[in-house]
Amino acid sequence: MANALVELGAKFGDRIGTLAWNDYRHLELYYGVSGSGMVCHTINPKLFPEQVNYIINHAEDRFIFVDLLVVPLLEALKDHLPMVEGYIILTDEAHMPNTTLPNAMCYETLLSKQSTAFDWPEFDENTASAMCYTSGTTGNPKGVVYSHRSTLLHAICGSMPDAVAASYKETTLPIVPMFHVNAWGSPYASLMAGSKMVMPGPKMADGEALQNLIETEKVTFSSGVPTIWLGLLDYLEKTGKTIPTMTRVSVGGAACPRTIIERFKQQHDIEVVQGWGMTETSPLGTIFCKKAGMEELTQDELFDLQCMQGRGVFGIEMRIVDEKNQELPWDGVAFGALKVKGPWVASGYYGLSKVPGSEGCPVDELGWFDTGDVATINPQGYMRITDRTKDVIKTGGEWVSSIEIENAAVSHPDVAEAAAIGRYHPKWTERPLLVVVRKADKSVSSEQIITFLQSKLHKLSMPDDIVFVDELPHTATGKLNKLALRKTLENYQFP
Ligand code: ADP
Repeated sequence: MANALVELGAKFGDRIGTLAWNDYRHLELYYGVSGSGMVCHTINPKLFPEQVNYIINHAEDRFIFVDLLVVPLLEALKDHLPMVEGYIILTDEAHMPNTTLPNAMCYETLLSKQSTAFDWPEFDENTASAMCYTSGTTGNPKGVVYSHRSTLLHAICGSMPDAVAASYKETTLPIVPMFHVNAWGSPYASLMAGSKMVMPGPKMADGEALQNLIETEKVTFSSGVPTIWLGLLDYLEKTGKTIPTMTRVSVGGAACPRTIIERFKQQHDIEVVQGWGMTETSPLGTIFCKKAGMEELTQDELFDLQCMQGRGVFGIEMRIVDEKNQELPWDGVAFGALKVKGPWVASGYYGLSKVPGSEGCPVDELGWFDTGDVATINPQGYMRITDRTKDVIKTGGEWVSSIEIENAAVSHPDVAEAAAIGRYHPKWTERPLLVVVRKADKSVSSEQIITFLQSKLHKLSMPDDIVFVDELPHTATGKLNKLALRKTLENYQFP
């Protein structure tokens, strides 16, 4: 792979784009590109075409390695990508499509001509190894650049026994895409530890395919966003099938509903390890683990703890601050903007100013990165995300957590998914509106959900109204797209 890059004429520091799923060719690219001193720029094929177009031009990718399924997307964009010198299609000669892409090459043919020996260069540890753009729910996507140093430190600290506990004994199935924050670092940590890796390919969200793969390959550990797990759990429940080799799943990217944690434990004896992070934190920031003295916790207390986002992994410092940037206490009650610091936390975005205080710089004078999340931290160091800064519902001068309302709503047996957003209210400025997707064939009413929520939520957090929809909008990475939802319900008025 690295020799192929030399043949193409790629040079140290060049950005090499990938539009690919979790498969072995993508893994070859991770190591071949970064190891030879170039930057492996993973691009999310599920973004809107205009975003993919913007990202490729902004990063100035010289070559793009593209999966067969994504070729049509690039064919539509090719005339707007003046900097790209060639497209390498991730397939063999027999499956090469007839494509209009200029300078299209076949990956396997290109590799077959190369020697298997390569003289890996040595360079500064701060050299860029990879880059990934945040999906950017507002404005243009922003590029985060990872260095060899940050990537390695992230993999080492994330592999520790009380973090992901990577080991040769594990068979790992990364469902979180390799185009989304390096599949949470698993391609580095798993290989470093010698775990067997199972690559799901494009079928990453299909319960049946996942069960099959887990059973056939005897997967012990897997990672992905909550929606994926709901799909798998429902499939297992419906078919009565099992996944007995799995012992742990790591869940992150969005708050993990308690039902997922309970169902995994009670129905499959699988531990959920919730983690929090973001593109800018490589992504690992916090992760669930017990502390000494917690051996006697009841199952219920343990579930409560697993619902939080976990403790900072070694290397990450956290603080929560109020609107005047004053630090708030770790009492589990006070909530404020979450700021983090650490060797794998970004200090700025590609091509934007890194001077604190200037536009586009996310870091303050003391080097704290503003995550855009709102959180509490308890005296034992467990962090709980209560919201994203822009999703907090501000009602009568108080902050209400939209995530708390959503978690309570999805614990109703007839609710498939729920989103809480603030809508204008003449007296309170904003009040919570709950948008619900019912489970198939269920007819639960607003009144029934309100009654159900009464024992779970503070009066201030109770939604003023419930709207039912067939489906909720999601971002390209499978998270609730509240911006789109707020737009759809722009003219909504409380009764
Ligand atoms: P974006 O969603 O904007 O593309 P990321 O993919 O980097 O950006 O997502 C990071 C955000 O996802 C975090 O800032 C946080 O809001 C949310 N997030 C990640 N993990 C969790 C978690 N375990 N619980 C709640 N929110 C989470």
